[in-house]
Amino acid sequence: MPPIPRITVWNEFWHERNDPAVAAVYPDGIHGAVAAALREHGLGEVRTATLDEPEHGLSEAVLEATDVLFWWGHRKHDAVSDAVVARVQARVLQGMGLVVLHSGHYSKIFRRLTGTACTLDYRVAGERERLWVVSPGHPVAQGLGRFFELGREEMYGEPFAIPEPDALVFISWFEGGEVFRSGCCYTRGRGRIFYFRPGHETFPTYHDPAVRRVLANAARWATPEAPAHEPPANVRRDPIEPIGR
Ligand code: ZN
Repeated sequence: MPPIPRITVWNEFWHERNDPAVAAVYPDGIHGAVAAALREHGLGEVRTATLDEPEHGLSEAVLEATDVLFWWGHRKHDAVSDAVVARVQARVLQGMGLVVLHSGHYSKIFRRLTGTACTLDYRVAGERERLWVVSPGHPVAQGLGRFFELGREEMYGEPFAIPEPDALVFISWFEGGEVFRSGCCYTRGRGRIFYFRPGHETFPTYHDPAVRRVLANAARWATPEAPAHEPPANVRRDPIEPIGR
């Protein structure tokens, strides 16, 4: 059995404190709901961190003790310090997994790691979303059927300005007609990154059993096989065999 990953769930935690409708859906915060989903699936080592904590709750010590970081942000992307973003990026390159949720598509950390604009089309109309499993053998899709549905969600539509994913696990169809690449896998350095689309703050998405399973699957998939560590510096090497004889 692999060791249980140490997970940190980060949330800007703004909507829940400023919009009673959101607080009603997520009384323990979105980070609380995500953390509960992970624990429900046997991932016991879960802590949470939020924007207003010192260093946004993401000190060197916290990141050193994190195998997989979850990220939910929306209104406060610009309030995340560049120093913390650089620290998270360095840790991903060393091997820490990163799971970016919903509006985290436009976070500083996701845009920096992808190197692209990460823009998309959107609409909040409480419409039906059907997430098709397009890579049924992928670990993130474990335990799901051909598709699962969310009764009310925000629409995200293509074109989504991201690099071509290494693997695409989900494609969403929306009641209004659009489609979207909803489960995208990347590696950057030694770190694995998963982007998962659903999770608008006014809908109970993170209470949905299929979504909760995907969160746990993504945490396991993104866990580094060896502990994250500093990548080697440039090294000048002598040849192994004599050259030019
Ligand atoms: Zn949203």
